[in-house]
Amino acid sequence: DSEENTTTSVDGNILVAMCLARAGVDKMFGVVGIPVTSLANRAVSLGIRFIAFHNEQSAGYAASAYGYLTGRPGILLTVSGPGCVHGLAGLSNAGVNTWPMVLISGSCDQKDFGRGDFQELDQIAAVAPFSKYSVKATGISKIPTCVFEVLDHAGSGRPGGCYLDLPTDVLHQCITDIEAQKLIDEAEHCRKKELIEKPIVKHSEIEKAVALLRNAERPLIVFGKGAAYARAENALQKLVQSTGIPFLPTPMGKGLLSDTHELSATAARSLAIGRCDVALVIGARLNWLLHFGEPPKWSKDVKFILVDICKEEIELRKPVVGLVGDAKDVVEKIHKEIKDDPFTLGRTHSWVEAITKKAKENVAKMELQLAKDVVPFNFTTPLRIIRDAILGVGSPAPIVVSEGANTMDVGRAVLVQTEPRTRLDAGTWGTMGVGLGYCIAAAVASPDRLVVAVEGDSGFGFSAMEVETLVRYQLPVVVIVFNNGGVYGGDRRSSEEIAGPYKDDPAPTSFVPGAAYHVVMEAFGGKGYLVQTPDELKSALAESFTARKPAVINLIIDPYAGSESGRMQHKN
Ligand code: ADP
Repeated sequence: DSEENTTTSVDGNILVAMCLARAGVDKMFGVVGIPVTSLANRAVSLGIRFIAFHNEQSAGYAASAYGYLTGRPGILLTVSGPGCVHGLAGLSNAGVNTWPMVLISGSCDQKDFGRGDFQELDQIAAVAPFSKYSVKATGISKIPTCVFEVLDHAGSGRPGGCYLDLPTDVLHQCITDIEAQKLIDEAEHCRKKELIEKPIVKHSEIEKAVALLRNAERPLIVFGKGAAYARAENALQKLVQSTGIPFLPTPMGKGLLSDTHELSATAARSLAIGRCDVALVIGARLNWLLHFGEPPKWSKDVKFILVDICKEEIELRKPVVGLVGDAKDVVEKIHKEIKDDPFTLGRTHSWVEAITKKAKENVAKMELQLAKDVVPFNFTTPLRIIRDAILGVGSPAPIVVSEGANTMDVGRAVLVQTEPRTRLDAGTWGTMGVGLGYCIAAAVASPDRLVVAVEGDSGFGFSAMEVETLVRYQLPVVVIVFNNGGVYGGDRRSSEEIAGPYKDDPAPTSFVPGAAYHVVMEAFGGKGYLVQTPDELKSALAESFTARKPAVINLIIDPYAGSESGRMQHKN
């Protein structure tokens, strides 16, 4: 009896929190409610920071980006039924971007499933298309194994989203703390090594890749967010430095090597991909963003060397050489192989010269455009001012979050990335509405960095209420809203499209003109700015960047600036 009195009781909620803490989880994102509120509170009491959102969609986007930025699965906690469904946005986004994330949802009582229980849903089936690995803890003793398994699966191989289902009855079951510790120890001991270990590339494949690069006339190195995730920046730096091969980052690969590097082919993209004869593509899929690696954008004779953690990805693209492995490890090995018998293209190499010349010309052309102060604002004038303000911050460089059609497209060309993993955008799926969630994830993942969101008013509107979350946690995030009164801005319908009984309704693309988004921020005690001129913008940026407090800059732009669908008009 006396022994029983000294043992405390551990319920499912507490046990999940204990397992997460043991696995090294340090942050969680989510929305609490039945049956997971206690889980969140217990996690906090065990040292895990819980960032409470207004909606699971934003919290899920935050969890996915947190996984990308830190290399450890981001955790989204939701309630049952609708909470889980809202969480699918983040889970699917993680999967498509190949970022590690775990969705943890409460679910209804197991004995009442099928009888119309509160928030009843077959959540394992609902998440199936978006989850790499899903598991339901059907009893309290299963919890530790389930927690370690989902975390390990999320980060293993090609990272992605995984799902843990926690029925209400399981969260309410109890065991002693001694039993709990024993279960956690056992589960930790049984973690599968093959999930944690990374594939090792074959040396013979490295040799093939190096031979191709060595004999190339016009080699190019392309890298993407998989290389950023793998933290391959130092290895890439060495490879580019020793070989003199020009490089092209994908949008989120930007910053792995500075955009200001003399071998950056960003401003000569068409020439670089159109003329290269050997392309070493690292942690970037040959999908729509890279024109499938096919003509007319690429030469039909280009030989691809692909580096990817995912064997299926290599099999899909059928490159001349496929290197399955971790980008950092593979690039280090390529560099080592070259170092023993170095080759350098040198600045006077005709290919390098052609790229640097073209890049310089294009940059000069763009600078002419950027130099103009256009008022009412177009996209380029404010983006130039924002670019200079961001560069003025120095190191550690701010993390830029960008979404919106024109704002993101023009911004990608104008904004300069100098450090790795400092750009988060709509990504592989072109997901709009990620902005505020990404800002919160970035601020929480990198507390020493300022976060600057450059986004359209439509992207902002998806989750504008999360500005309250910024204020509540006092995160150093400055959100710049390019306000053109709608999706793409203005009413761009042709006269034939304006017809029918509802023709006098606002256009499907339009919002209330002149919306006071800065006042939304002020409603919660944050700082709001309304800006319409270069001087107003410069002063708002100077003040908010120095303050490092939550701020919204409502930047009014000409509703007819930019184009419908940005650069994707052919798909509309
Ligand atoms: P981007 O959008 O920048 O072009 P993608 O998302 O298309 O990049 O491609 C990223 C690729 O990186 C995915 O195919 C993924 O399997 C791969 N990847 C993820 N982690 C690693 C890693 N550690 N090493 C190598 N490749 C990785």
